[in-house]
Amino acid sequence: MRSGLAVLAAVLLLGGLATPAYAERAELTARAVKPLEGRVVVLDPGHQLGNHNFPRRINRLVPAGGFRKPCNTTGTATNGGYPEATFAWQVTRLVQARLQKLGATVKLTRNANRQDRWGPCVDERGRAGNAVEADLKISLHGDGSYAAGARGFHVIAPTDRRPWTHDIFRPSRRLALDTRAALRARGVPVANYIAGGDGLDFRSDLGTLNLSDVPTVMVELGNMRNPRDAHRMTTPSGRATYARALATAVRRYLG
Ligand SMILES: [Zn+2]
Repeated sequence: MRSGLAVLAAVLLLGGLATPAYAERAELTARAVKPLEGRVVVLDPGHQLGNHNFPRRINRLVPAGGFRKPCNTTGTATNGGYPEATFAWQVTRLVQARLQKLGATVKLTRNANRQDRWGPCVDERGRAGNAVEADLKISLHGDGSYAAGARGFHVIAPTDRRPWTHDIFRPSRRLALDTRAALRARGVPVANYIAGGDGLDFRSDLGTLNLSDVPTVMVELGNMRNPRDAHRMTTPSGRATYARALATAVRRYLG
């Protein structure tokens, strides 16, 4: 009799565990721990450190969305010589780590930051999210303006250009707004020298944006030629600030 009750209790318990409510609770818990599980994010660290060593390859014209453009450029640097390629690379790796911790699959457009490498070209960067059906793509850059006092970040999103960006310009705008909000919330100033002062720029001349079939933005995180921005960009804590903001933007955008 006692063992019969034990069996009955076990059956009831197992029955309870197998109910949809329990499975749902377990899934909700997993989602809370890894909210980006199943999401694919492409990060594009602008330029390659060695681009300046390969001028012929870098100047070769490639498709950029209805017109052709040089494969890539060398990027800029701080007055102290810290290259944009290295800045973009270091922040990208921090963002990657944060997103992976949240469960996302993260793909990069380049896997090294080296003087003996070049590219990829803007057409490859532009298409990087398409085949993997990424949820979004963010291209990371630093600007290089010599205008006095020019500082701050700006986010660039594609305009509506059929047949290139008509499918992505709306969600890309939303991603741009989330990116701007997240950077502002971390105390990064909005650019005072470009993009009309609101930190948002819409452009039709960038292959990296034009060739994307997934929502995408390019972010110029600061002006590398400005000493105050350069300070943030060259210090680990400053780069962590950018990375935290970008990870927040991705989370917000993906809901
Ligand atoms: Zn750049």
